[in-house]
Amino acid sequence: MNFRTRLIPVCAVALVGLTACGGSDDTTAADDSSQTVVTSIYPLDFITTSVAGDHLDVVSLTPSGVDPHDVELSPQTIGDVQSSDLVIYSADLQTAIDEAVEQQASDHSVDVNGAADLISTGAEHDHDHDHGDEHGDEHEDEHEDEGASDEVDPHWWLDPARMADVTQLVSDELSEIDPDNAADYESNAAALIAELDTLDGDFEAGLANCEQEDLVTTHAAFGYLAENYGFHQIGVTGISPEAEPSPARLAEVTAIVEDAGVDTIYSEVILGSDIADTIAIETGATVLTLDPLEGLTDASAGSDYLEVMRSNLDALTEGQHCS
Ligand SMILES: [Zn+2]
Repeated sequence: MNFRTRLIPVCAVALVGLTACGGSDDTTAADDSSQTVVTSIYPLDFITTSVAGDHLDVVSLTPSGVDPHDVELSPQTIGDVQSSDLVIYSADLQTAIDEAVEQQASDHSVDVNGAADLISTGAEHDHDHDHGDEHGDEHEDEHEDEGASDEVDPHWWLDPARMADVTQLVSDELSEIDPDNAADYESNAAALIAELDTLDGDFEAGLANCEQEDLVTTHAAFGYLAENYGFHQIGVTGISPEAEPSPARLAEVTAIVEDAGVDTIYSEVILGSDIADTIAIETGATVLTLDPLEGLTDASAGSDYLEVMRSNLDALTEGQHCS
């Protein structure tokens, strides 16, 4: 079987999606009375929208359905970064956004990574970054240090406790740019933090007794989740999903799946399921969806972070045989 040819349709779809990178459709001009807060990726958009309520305009830099690791910004969007009142982002995840913040918003931006307490979750990596599209050059820079075994995992939002810590930071930051509404921000944040605490408790209870500890995913986004709830993540591709896995890596994961008696492997909404399907055909495993929540689309199993995380919990409960 030739995996390279199998992936061509996926790349075509991805490129269609990437045309949306040219301009962010949900970039709306702030009305005269509201300040504008720009967020880099869906989980931060969810937090900021929840905390801001009606008081602020919140603009996301990652268009719906685009692989967020790969996002590009139009001059118009970079202008939005420059003219906004605050940019909330997670550094070292999206190169284009790091650059825009550094050049346009160094005096009005906040990097949440400190509050998120990023760590290395020991994700396994595939170092083949032959992407095969026109953005290849940038990936050389973006991932040049990915060979390090202690690479920090950027997917902090898959841990509800880290989401809660970042929610508190966002509340504090919004209160600083808009002190008149600080009480609302604080109470909105407290309500969200309570929901995140409940979610964390439900994950802990639901995943306390699972027959299968090996968690086979397409891209290694679930390190924090695995660490929290007692799984061992095996990502077919690395922390950044765009790399096409080598035939050797596919064979390696297929062997792990067979040896460990893994009968469920997980695919993603935005990236599609070709990689998971390939291993499933080889091993007879079932494919379920585990959403890394890097974006929300019409195909997402829920209308917001909390709902999609509950769908993830359902998938894990079934796929890891938890009781
Ligand atoms: Zn990712």
